[in-house]
Amino acid sequence: MGATRAERIDLRQRNPKWKNPPLFIDMSTCINCDACLRHCPEQLGAIFNHGIDVVIVPELCSGCDKCLPVCPVDCIHPFADWETTGYPIEWWEEPGSSNDPYQ
Ligand code: SF4
Ligand code: SF4
Repeated sequence: MGATRAERIDLRQRNPKWKNPPLFIDMSTCINCDACLRHCPEQLGAIFNHGIDVVIVPELCSGCDKCLPVCPVDCIHPFADWETTGYPIEWWEEPGSSNDPYQ
């Protein structure tokens, strides 16, 4: 249940064992450099180019924070209330697609 990336994509479900909240990218500050995307571990694979935006799919983000130190403009932040706030469902067009950089 959400233990592997493939399961998380199929079920659209986070690994329930993850304690840290997922992160989100403040798009008003992001300069679309893709540094974070390249540093997200392959087995997590949570960051995508979605049109002109760089986005983090919360169900795929463990909150490992590996993307944080590489962001040149410090625009990646915790998204503690992601389940109540929600995010654009269109972001799910990317995981597992031909635009998925982690497969
Ligand atoms: S916190 Fe970890 S899993 Fe989440 S987007 Fe950053 S590098 Fe990827
Ligand atoms: S590293 Fe920061 S500025 Fe670069 S794409 Fe990621 S969030 Fe945007």
